[in-house]
Amino acid sequence: MSFWISNLDRRPIPPDTLLPRSCNVCIIGAGLTGCSLAYYLAEYDVPDVLLLEANAYVAHGATGRNGGHLSPSPSRLDPQIYNFDKRTTSLVRAFLQSQEEVVQRGCELYTTGLLSYKRGTAAVEDHAVKLAERFPPMEGSRLVSDTTPIPSLQGTHQKAILTDSGAQVYPARLVHAMWEAAQRKAKEKGLLLTTVQRKVSQVVEGAVLTEQEERIECRSVVYCGNAYGLHLLPSWLQAIVQPVRGQCVASQGGLSLRQWMSGSWTDEGGDQYVIQRRSDGRYILGGKRFLAPHQDVGNTDDSTVDPTVREALQSVLKELHPEAVVEFEWTGLMAFTPDGLPVVGEVQPGYYVLCGYTGHGMVRASGCAEALARVLSGMADSLKGLIPDTFDAARFRTV
Ligand SMILES: Cc1cc2nc3c(=O)[nH]c(=O)nc-3n(C[C@H](O)[C@H](O)[C@H](O)COP(=O)(O)OP(=O)(O)OC[C@H]3O[C@@H](n4cnc5c(N)ncnc54)[C@H](O)[C@@H]3O)c2cc1C
Repeated sequence: MSFWISNLDRRPIPPDTLLPRSCNVCIIGAGLTGCSLAYYLAEYDVPDVLLLEANAYVAHGATGRNGGHLSPSPSRLDPQIYNFDKRTTSLVRAFLQSQEEVVQRGCELYTTGLLSYKRGTAAVEDHAVKLAERFPPMEGSRLVSDTTPIPSLQGTHQKAILTDSGAQVYPARLVHAMWEAAQRKAKEKGLLLTTVQRKVSQVVEGAVLTEQEERIECRSVVYCGNAYGLHLLPSWLQAIVQPVRGQCVASQGGLSLRQWMSGSWTDEGGDQYVIQRRSDGRYILGGKRFLAPHQDVGNTDDSTVDPTVREALQSVLKELHPEAVVEFEWTGLMAFTPDGLPVVGEVQPGYYVLCGYTGHGMVRASGCAEALARVLSGMADSLKGLIPDTFDAARFRTV
């Protein structure tokens, strides 16, 4: 089981809640996307919202199984995406600042900076030059090199990109905080927000059907199911979005804190990402999925781990800290698109999708949800200008 879920005061979804026959907005999935959407819908006064979750607990999908990074990514060399990521990070920060201190502390948000680099290749040079050319609009990210006295994760010999706003967080607790704040806000304002444990089996025009063959009439439906319910997408999107399994390990806590940033890097061993938790010194490390059969593309089993990936992650962990031993290991699902960017928008009349974040959902989910909440509340006419143009689901529409 993941470190995040194992150390969680879990939030069961009340099992006996009555399922309404109809609602204004039906949200499918209670991870970061679904709970952020519930929160912003309440913030923007949208009444009669129903949140359906297949699991018995909130935040048991990818949001309870990820690497804990909340870091804008400059690596696409796209200022629009980078600035959107930064805005999402600010939204999360603002949300936490509005919560009680005990909630803020529990979510363990620490700004550490993020160091990203490639090891042992000339590619980083090209990448660095391209980034440098675009730096003005990518404020907050800069190049560091071997002449800069910033310790990197594995020596100081690489050029790297340092993103100052890179942060770490306790993802599942953040979702709990959002879910609870959404319920409080909805109650205070006399809006209705109901969460029910149900697996949605089908989305049809104007309604969703559950596995128990119940039908709920809905004005709008929003898919926030990540890679766990892809069969609910229209067929043209099903052909595009793929489930991909990711794997992580966590060391024991109590390791001395190094004065370094969180990092993600690529080398001959593929992509890897790590944080050392500021709160307890524990390392959380993920990646290496290229060692699994078919790089774990299409693998939807998040109840087991791949032994080869485990071994590789263990040896990186030792490299990072000789005393570190693996205490937790887990897998989770990501939704991938061919261009690696999210699919966001209205995909059928009244049916919206917020999905396809690959391994960057923490910095995109709340921003996409907030944007859609503006549309559903009538504050905005469309998502245009609220999300990067490149996220528009319509780019994959063939008919
Ligand atoms: C191993 C791993 C490491 C990662 N590391 C990072 C990282 O460090 N930083 C980062 O930014 N991102 C990371 N990600 C990506 C990030 O975790 C996800 O993009 C993000 O959590 C997605 O949130 P979500 O709410 O959309 O999906 P989820 O958290 O997966 O929630 C979807 C929910 O929908 C529910 N659902 C699905 N289908 C149905 C249905 N039919 N009926 C009812 N409910 C349904 C599921 O049960 C689930 O609870 C990582 C992902 C993985 C797997």
